[in-house]
This record gives sequence, C-alpha cells and structure tokens, in this order.
Amino acid sequence: PRRVLSGIQASGALHLGNYLGALKRFTQLQDGGAPCFLFVADLHAVTVWQDPTLLTAQTREIAAAYLASGLDPAKSVIFPQSAVRAHSELAWIFNCVARLGWLDRMTQFKEKSGKHKERSSVGLYTYPVLQAADILLYKATEVPTGEDQKQHLELTRDIAAKFNNDFGVPGFFPLPEPLTQGPAPRVMSLRDGAAKMSKSDPSDQSRINLTDDADAIVAKVRKARTDPEPLPDTVEALDARPEAKNLVTIYAALADISREQVLAEFGGQGFGAFKPALADLAVASMAPVTAEMRRLMADPAEIDLVLKNGADRAAAIADPVVDEVKKIVGFWRA
Ligand code: ATP
Ligand code: MG
Repeated sequence: PRRVLSGIQASGALHLGNYLGALKRFTQLQDGGAPCFLFVADLHAVTVWQDPTLLTAQTREIAAAYLASGLDPAKSVIFPQSAVRAHSELAWIFNCVARLGWLDRMTQFKEKSGKHKERSSVGLYTYPVLQAADILLYKATEVPTGEDQKQHLELTRDIAAKFNNDFGVPGFFPLPEPLTQGPAPRVMSLRDGAAKMSKSDPSDQSRINLTDDADAIVAKVRKARTDPEPLPDTVEALDARPEAKNLVTIYAALADISREQVLAEFGGQGFGAFKPALADLAVASMAPVTAEMRRLMADPAEIDLVLKNGADRAAAIADPVVDEVKKIVGFWRA
C-alpha cells in the first residue's frame, strides 16, 4: 500500500523554501488520496542547540504550518517525532547497520559543521541514520522533500537494503521512492544564489519567513540580490544567472505556472518591474497561510490535540514494527 512520509525540523522559522519544496507538495499528495504521515522533527532539531522553551513553541509552529497549508488531521497523521519512542530505538539499530564511510560522504554534514567539525554534535553526524529510521519505521513508499535531502534518501535505501540482506529478511523494509521533483525543489537564499534558503541561515534577509508580514516580504524581495540585466526570454538563459533563476522559479511555483510562462510575461523587463510583481504575488499567496498559522498559535489547545492524536496513531503503527525488528535482530524478549 501507498504511504507518504516526511518531516520538517523544529529548528526555527519556516520559510518559502519549506513551503514550496515541502508543505505545498504534502497537501497535493494528501488531496490526491495518499495516506500521509507528517512529523515535526524535534529529535533532528536538537542536533544543533535549541533553547528548550523555544523548541516547544517551534514544534507547535510547524504543526500550525501543516494545518494552515491544508493538511487535514482527519486524513493525515501529524505528530511530534520525539513522542513516538520507536524512532529513537530504530535509529540505534540503524547506527549499527550504516557504515562510517557512507556517512562520511554526506554533504549536508560538511555544510552544517563547516570549519568546526570536531565541535559538532555526534547527532548532527548520524542525523541521516535517524532519518532512515523515521521513514522505514512506517514502511513509507514515497518521501516528498526538497532536493537537499536527496542524498539522505539514497542512504535510507542503502540502510534498508543492508538490513534486509544482513538479517535475511528480503523485502522487510521496502525501498522508498524519493519525490524531489516539485515546482521549486531548491529555493535559494535571497542573499546568495549559491546557498539554499534555510531556517538556520543567520541572516533573516536571506529568507521569506511564513510569519513575515507584507511589509517585510516587500522589503526582502526589493533587497534580494540580482544582476543588473533585464530578464531573458528563454529558460536556458537563466542557467548562468542563479539569482534571476531563483526569483523566476519562485514566481512560477507560487503562481502554479511554468517558468516559460513567467518569462513570456516578464522577459525583457528589468527587476524594477519584476520584483514588485513577485512581492505582490508572494504576499497574496502567503497571507492566508500566515493568518491561519497566527490564529492556530494564539491558542495552542487545538494544535496540541492534533499532535497528541497523531502521536497515538503513529505509535500504533511504529511500535509493532520496531518490536518485529528487535525480534529479527535477536534481542531477548519475554
Ligand atoms: P535547517 O537549516 O534547520 O536544516 P531547513 O530550512 O533546511 O532547516 P528542514 O526542516 O531541514 O528545513 O527541511 C524541511 C523540508 O523543507 C525538507 O523537505 C527540505 O528538503 C525542504 N527544504 C528545506 N529548504 C528548502 C529549500 N531552500 N528549497 C526547497 N525545499 C527546501
Ligand atoms: Mg535542512
């Protein structure tokens, strides 16, 4: 059976990249009839320091974003990762399946640890192993994410295949399909066309947050880094111009049209004309989501109920799977 699974880290303010690369896709998949499991990745968030009080608030904020972008708790299971113990249990077993050499190749660890590898948490290093546990615990068939997670999803498949093979249980864990081909699978920073838009980027100017008001969005788009040339007429000509390509891609994804259609309208025009149109579109597209998030966060009771019910439903599926894994591995059971 089909099962979609994905998560978003409770590591700070959600941004347009999360919305276009992840949230919008989840809603499309749910509305297409796929059963969806969507968690708030709080275990992943603490791979870098999180203030405990903020972590709770950020967890609720991600849940609010799920609901505000159209996910329906009657159809989709929305839960905090740490509330389902099986994630941590399976992650340990997978830590003993995954090879150091595999993790050494993960580019996200290199990017996030930067020059201070020896001062990074061990959790940041084994993060993709926990991610494999998140996915395989539910025997997910499809995993929608942004393009930045592609390498981690390949690792998940490697871990599944090695577990099935080492323990002689062919097909026990199905190999999940990565879905990284959305309308905007890699939204770039507004300050740097070579870096992806990220929650953890220290510059708030680099991203449009889901909680930004209209004035902030307009100001950030106006100041977004660009080259001085007018927009080209063809999509191919965008390849050499990462900042222009990013803004055109964002426009297309927000308007649900192709980049060709965007250039048919704006090709030959300067950013002086394009940026205000993009800002208006961003404000109009985000405003309903933002307003609903604010409403939900004003009284967390509704969110907390969704998270509690989601955790119970998720555990009902995950706990028997981890029990079976323990049996396969040979752990003592009464
Ligand atoms: P952090 O900097 O803390 O890692 P993040 O912005 O990368 O935060 P995540 O919680 O790690 O956000 O990712 C949540 C989802 O959003 C994932 O599916 C990820 O692939 C997607 N995503 C993150 N950044 C982008 C982006 N710039 N463009 C498209 N999708 C993105
Ligand atoms: Mg990330």
